[in-house]
Amino acid sequence: MSTRPAPRFPRLKGRLPPQLARCPGCGRHLFPTAKTCPFCAADVVKLGKAQQRAYLKAQAALVRLRRAVARG
Ligand SMILES: [Zn+2]
Repeated sequence: MSTRPAPRFPRLKGRLPPQLARCPGCGRHLFPTAKTCPFCAADVVKLGKAQQRAYLKAQAALVRLRRAVARG
């Protein structure tokens, strides 16, 4: 009786890794369901919101800067 050898990485076969989020504090990968970062203990939700606000502010500043440059 012959048995087929087990695949070396059975869990990886034909599967994609789960979608991961990034910690806004340290940039390491987290599960999207994580509320706090297991690496730097940051409040991921709070930091994510702060980062989003900063991004929108930067976008608005860029628009103002472009207008100022266009005026000459
Ligand atoms: Zn972190």
